[in-house]
Amino acid sequence: MTNTWVKTTCAFCGVGCGIEARVNNDKVIVRGDKQHPANFGRLCSKGMALGEIVNNKGRLLQPYIEGKTTSWQNAITKIATDFKQVVDHFGSEAIGFYLSGQLLTEDYYVANKLMKGFIGSPNIDTNSRLCMSSSVAAHKRAFGSDTVPGCYEDLEKAELIIIAGANLAWCHPVLYQRIIAAKQQAPNLKIVVIDPRKTITAQTADLHLAIEPGTDVLLFNGLLHYLCQGNKLNNHFIRQYTEGFSLALQAATNEAHDLLFLAKHLAISSDLLTQFYRWFAETDKVVTLYSQGINQSSCGTDKVNSILNCHLAMGKIGKPGCGPFSLTGQPNAMGGREVGGMANSLAAHLEFNNPQHHELLSRFWHTSKLVKQPGLKAVDLFDAVAKGKIKAIWIMGTNPVVSMPNSQHVITALKNCPLVVVSDCMLETDTNQYADILLPATDWGEKSGMVTNSERRISRQRTLVKPAGKAKPDWWIICEVAKQMGFYQAFNYENEADIFKEYAKLTAFENDALGNNSIRDLDLSLLTDLTTQEYHDFTPTQWPAIKNTKQSNNKRFFADGKFYTQTTKAQFITVSYKPPVTKTNSTYPLILNTGRIRDQWHTMTRTSFIPKLCTHISEPYVHLNPLDATTFSIKHDELVQLTSNIGTLITKAKVSEQILSGQVFMPMHWTRMLASSGQVSQLINPNVDPFSGQPESKYTPVTISPWQYN
Ligand code: SF4
Repeated sequence: MTNTWVKTTCAFCGVGCGIEARVNNDKVIVRGDKQHPANFGRLCSKGMALGEIVNNKGRLLQPYIEGKTTSWQNAITKIATDFKQVVDHFGSEAIGFYLSGQLLTEDYYVANKLMKGFIGSPNIDTNSRLCMSSSVAAHKRAFGSDTVPGCYEDLEKAELIIIAGANLAWCHPVLYQRIIAAKQQAPNLKIVVIDPRKTITAQTADLHLAIEPGTDVLLFNGLLHYLCQGNKLNNHFIRQYTEGFSLALQAATNEAHDLLFLAKHLAISSDLLTQFYRWFAETDKVVTLYSQGINQSSCGTDKVNSILNCHLAMGKIGKPGCGPFSLTGQPNAMGGREVGGMANSLAAHLEFNNPQHHELLSRFWHTSKLVKQPGLKAVDLFDAVAKGKIKAIWIMGTNPVVSMPNSQHVITALKNCPLVVVSDCMLETDTNQYADILLPATDWGEKSGMVTNSERRISRQRTLVKPAGKAKPDWWIICEVAKQMGFYQAFNYENEADIFKEYAKLTAFENDALGNNSIRDLDLSLLTDLTTQEYHDFTPTQWPAIKNTKQSNNKRFFADGKFYTQTTKAQFITVSYKPPVTKTNSTYPLILNTGRIRDQWHTMTRTSFIPKLCTHISEPYVHLNPLDATTFSIKHDELVQLTSNIGTLITKAKVSEQILSGQVFMPMHWTRMLASSGQVSQLINPNVDPFSGQPESKYTPVTISPWQYN
């Protein structure tokens, strides 16, 4: 325990705010870190409540096997023995891991090393699949690598900020505060919000485009056509630094050349549409921020590429105050991407489809078992569990029984799975109920390691207090299992610093080994020689952090017009509007949208115990428009039944002008445990984007009726 101020990082969203924390009479007190470049001292309601999750009620305090407490040694031996038996009888691919953007980079790294490098199973994915995998896929298609070009400082330099599919005021509150502060400093800064709902963020925008859900590709294809028609293209940039423009433009023109037709399909006025297009065309410095409203779609990757196409067409990328900027949802979604946390990637942005990368990573890890093909993405992973192809699954720090679409199917899968291991810091979660082995993991304030935020800035989470009960860090648990499985040498780390240094060395090794073929974006070579003390003293650092080039913290990606494709040119991707997979009809006429509220985090396993976070909105609800309330005979504050083609639930109706007629909105947070009437994920179809595997959580046809007590 420490009573001096310790610099650490917030455990919640992907903004990655710096925190200063100190322990006073067994209580953890927090304040914003004025020196941290993400927040400069600002915090939101969740960040300010962080001290209260330390020593939270309801912690998982010791290991359990089949509901009985046990020792760490027994639990680890059983997992290692059972995993080896599964591998012997059914093959490596019968093991699955499902990780979380809540894990630290060191945890993510060793989990991936164990599965992909030593057990030899590629079936390891993460809840980040539900969050920003469409952006990852789109970045790779356009830039040749998963490189986010945006920096937060661009928000203060931009002249036009477009916020697409994101309620920043509630979901990335400190970035929203930065934008509002920037507007106060520079009143000419314009803000455009593209969102079907009239959110708090939309209410403060200069222009709100409440487009028909799912039509974003049409909107941005229309913009590409408009730029061409108005001679606003940056022809030099297109010729010099890009490929594929003509085909992309042709597709955009084919479907979006008629402004009136376009406005009708987008369900907004042609005046608003023209104003947006004009602002984009005539403003020099434009940042487009986007998040789940873009990503969580059966055409999420195309949606992201339609945005990237418009920025490339005007060369609005790689310059201060300019660029497309995908926001991550979780505190370490970006760190997970860096170390190959997704089923279709390898550590340090190395790629499955590149034999040179495969050989390099095998050599670095001293293994002959490195998997050669990508594994199953989240929805397919749980489907494989349900079908009996995966015999043992280890879920770490996440609650898929609530967060996955078609959650009933996930429950069936876990019930049928011969071995379910769950590591979590909380005892009673919806997923833990199905665990054969439960492992207590350390929570924020107890653990120590790195996280990377949306703008690629790596920061430290630091230990403030001793672990609760017998809780252990995730990296330690994974390494103990690995050592018991016989991989002693490869997982014999003293501490988390050793793991991070190995990962940083991998990025440098990659660059040395591949030379000009290297993906130099994720270069942490500056960090390879960190001493353990320097690791502990680490200050927030944006990657790349390149040795000998003095480019740490000031490299602006793509400023030189060079991208990570084979030709070094950015790729325009030809995209066309595709409707959502499951469409509304006379039985299910309303579009269900889902999202976060201001003061809760994910499935509320930790935030529901903090009284002040429960006062903002205290119970689940569905928003519906007054017109629909009349049509469906629904009164404000009354219970209603919401039904999709796969499930039904009961919740409270809130009649609101924030939602347009034909749509309803329900928060994602409440679970069956917290609201026995049901959780929203049981209504959502498991339709996914074909490139990213990201589920379509923003568009589910439903119907609504007053609830009848029988
Ligand atoms: Fe934490 Fe996000 Fe709030 Fe910052 S904006 S304090 S990272 S929850």
